Amino acid sequence: MTTTIDVASIRRDFPILHTRVGGRPLVYLDNAATTQKPVAVLSALEKHYKESNANIHRGVHYLAERATDAYELARKTVAGFLNAARSEEIIFVRGTTEGINLIAQSYGFPFLGEGDEILLTTMEHHANIVPWQLVCERNGAKLRIIPVTDSGELDMEAFTALLSERTKIVSLAHASNALGTVNPVKAMVDKAHACGAIVLLDGAQAVGHFPVDVQDLDCDFYVFSGHKLFSTTGAGVVYGKYDRLQSMPPFQGGGDMINKVTFEKTTYKRPPGRFEAGTPNIGGAVALGAAIEYLGGLDRLALLEYEHDLLQYATGLLSEIEGLKIYGRASEKVSLISFTLEGVHPHDIATVLDADGIAIRAGHHCTQPLHRHYGISATARASFAYYNTREEAEKLTASLKKIKLLFG
Ligand SMILES: *Cc1c(COP(=O)(O)O)cnc(C)c1O
Repeated sequence: MTTTIDVASIRRDFPILHTRVGGRPLVYLDNAATTQKPVAVLSALEKHYKESNANIHRGVHYLAERATDAYELARKTVAGFLNAARSEEIIFVRGTTEGINLIAQSYGFPFLGEGDEILLTTMEHHANIVPWQLVCERNGAKLRIIPVTDSGELDMEAFTALLSERTKIVSLAHASNALGTVNPVKAMVDKAHACGAIVLLDGAQAVGHFPVDVQDLDCDFYVFSGHKLFSTTGAGVVYGKYDRLQSMPPFQGGGDMINKVTFEKTTYKRPPGRFEAGTPNIGGAVALGAAIEYLGGLDRLALLEYEHDLLQYATGLLSEIEGLKIYGRASEKVSLISFTLEGVHPHDIATVLDADGIAIRAGHHCTQPLHRHYGISATARASFAYYNTREEAEKLTASLKKIKLLFG
């Protein structure tokens, strides 16, 4: 094993990992649904509310300035994390879902029309399907779907064939929450741009696993949720190229996004302010900044290597279980495994595992079209983070073998 990180020490940073479930140590393998939070994030949140809490941008008093500075510093931290060209390209939203809705409404509604096409993939999360259907219903645009292969990779020939001058936007997951597949997004951005289409990447499952550079990818938009990046719920990010954002109308109207309001006409702030109506999740943004700082203190390439090793190890163990089928065998994957076990419903798997203290997820993982593609309605999914261990993968395997005996 090539562990170059100290997992025992990392685990001490995450208090919840020491929970006991019915007397057994918790084995948390539901990281694709949400990640756990290190003390650094929890204390940043507490410190913010104890020492800096005020509303931002409008006040001139001491606390208002502290809160505004902290919020804007978090924006800079996120910009650095994604290697955005400038911090004005970072918009704080609730999460990936709200981020995609923002782009669908502020870009899709005004710029897409009858006959225009939106390219998605079979493996998209519902959050990257439904907002575009709303655009289609309203504007007469059409969805076209890039199919997946049996191994759970995108069919790149089909992608090339689907691209045309009608394609206005290509919107896809950087990494799939159901298959783990890491898509070849850089090459896809190049091809889409060559056709005049713009590209939105759903980074919800990417940012927590590997470094992302939006300038290198050259994507037009990138979105992610803080809670899948070891921070709190309720704060996420939209990155957009500045000129693109500058051309877009507001998403929601309200306070803090305007220059001047009269009953006849209102003018809007420049990005990012234009897209942040009302009081944002200030504490959530501060916590997200702290989560990024925390990650910055670790060797991210070593974490990636560790997770890759863990994925290989767990895949090997699970593959030995008779009747267990893994969905998602892409050559490049983030550390999650979706599977079915012959004769046992995924919900029963999750329920029995829970009795052993093991947390996984069962269901369609908000990817019903993908499950339909494979002719199944549900899978069980074990999703790992860098704080998980080989021992935990072994416990999962042992419990699954027990289930096999119980139900088989
Ligand atoms: C979790 C997830 C989403 C939705 O994120 P929210 O935080 O629920 O808004 C979208 N896409 C992918 C790939 C996800 O994993």
